[in-house]
Amino acid sequence: MKKIAILGSTGSIGTQTLQIVRTNQDLEVTALAAGSNIDLLETQIREFHPSLVAVWGEEKAAELKIRTKDLDLKIVSGMDGLLEVAVQPEAELLVTAIVGMIGIRPTIAAMKAGKDIALANKETLVTAGHIIMPLARECQVQILPVDSEHSAIFQCLQGENKEQIKKILLTASGGPFRGRKKEELREVQVEDALKHPNWSMGRKITIDSATMVNKGLEMMEARWLFGVEPKDIQIVVQPKSIIHSMVEFVDGAVIAQLGTPDMKLPIQYALYYPDRRDLPGERLDFWKLNEITFEKPDMENFPGLSLAFDAAAGGGSLPTVYNAANERAVALFLERKIGFLEIPQIIRSCMEAHKVIKAPKVDEILSVEQEVYEMIESRW
Ligand code: NAD
Ligand code: MG
Repeated sequence: MKKIAILGSTGSIGTQTLQIVRTNQDLEVTALAAGSNIDLLETQIREFHPSLVAVWGEEKAAELKIRTKDLDLKIVSGMDGLLEVAVQPEAELLVTAIVGMIGIRPTIAAMKAGKDIALANKETLVTAGHIIMPLARECQVQILPVDSEHSAIFQCLQGENKEQIKKILLTASGGPFRGRKKEELREVQVEDALKHPNWSMGRKITIDSATMVNKGLEMMEARWLFGVEPKDIQIVVQPKSIIHSMVEFVDGAVIAQLGTPDMKLPIQYALYYPDRRDLPGERLDFWKLNEITFEKPDMENFPGLSLAFDAAAGGGSLPTVYNAANERAVALFLERKIGFLEIPQIIRSCMEAHKVIKAPKVDEILSVEQEVYEMIESRW
C-alpha cells in the first residue's frame, strides 16, 4: 500500500484526493493537515485512520484532541505541525493541497525527507520555483503536478525529450467573465465571480480564474516545472476546458491531453504515476461535443494576466509580490471591501513599489510576502 500524507485535506483538492483513496482502497493515509474545519477533519480521521493530524490553530487542535480521545492519534498545530506532517516517516508522498505561500516550508521539508510531492499548491512554485526544482533534483524526489494543465503537459511529455519542446500551449477557459470589457467588469459581484463555467474549486482559485491571475500563476508554475522560458508559453483560450493543455515540439508536432473537466484525473495520475487507473465518471463524447473553439487571451481587459508576464520577466522576488498582492486583494474582494478591477490595480501598485531581490532565499520570500501584506493593509 502506498502511503500518503495530505496538506489541506478539507479543501477542494484535499477532499477529491480522499475520494480517490476511498475508491481505490490501495492507498494508506498516514497524516492529514487542515486549517479550521475540524468537523470535516474528524469525519476524515474516523474514515481514513491517519496517525498524525495537524490543525492550524491551537484552540481548534485542542478541541479536536478532546473529540478524538478514543483514538490512537497525535494532533499537532501551527507551522511546526505542518512541518511534522510533511516529514512524517511513514509517508512516501505528500499531497500539497493547501493554498498560498504557507506551503513553501512544508514542501521543502518533505523533499529533504525524501518524499515525492503531488503538487497542487502552485503558489509555492511561483514564488520559490528557483529553490524547489533544483532541490527536487538534489534530493532525487519527484514533483508530480496536480494542476490540470500541468498534469496535461506532464502527460504529453511522457517518453519525450524535454530539450525538443518548442513551446507550451497553456489552455485557459477565460473564466466566468470571458468576453466582457472593463466597463462591464467594474460592478461585478463576488457571487458572479464565484461562478466558474467548468470547474468547481476553492474560493481563492475561483476568483483567480475570473481575473485570469490563475493563468498567470500557472504560466510561472509551468515555467519551473518544465524548464521553459515564459516567452515560450502561449496562453490559448478554449472556453469548454476540454483540451487541458498542449506541447508543440521542434518538428511542429503538437500533442494535447483531453478529457472532461474533472480534477480527480490529474490527482489520480499524480498519486499512481506512471500507472493509470480506472476512473468512474463522464467520458468525452466527440459527437456531443461537436466543436472545440479557440480565442486569444484578452490581456487588455484582464490585466492580471499581462502582469504575470511582467512578474516573470522581472524575476527574483517579483513573482512573490505578484502572488502576495493578489492573495490579499482577493481576500479584500471576497470581503466586499474592493471592486473586481481593483485586484489587478493593487497587484500593479505593489509590483511598481518593489525593489527586486534576485534569487531570494525562503526567508526573503516570506519577508517580501509580509511587506506586501503590510503595504496593502496601510493603503486599502
Ligand atoms: P481550498 O480553499 O478548497 O482548500 C484549502 C485547504 O488548505 C483546506 O483544507 C484548508 O483547511 C487548508 N489550509 C488553509 N490554510 C491552512 C493552514 N494555515 N494550515 C493548514 N491547512 C490550511 O483550496 P483548493 O481549491 O483545494 O486549492 C488548493 C491548492 O490547489 C491551491 O494552491 C490551488 O491553486 C491549487 N489548485 C486547485 C484546483 C482546484 O480544482 N481546486 C485546481 C488546480 C490547482
Ligand atoms: Mg489549473
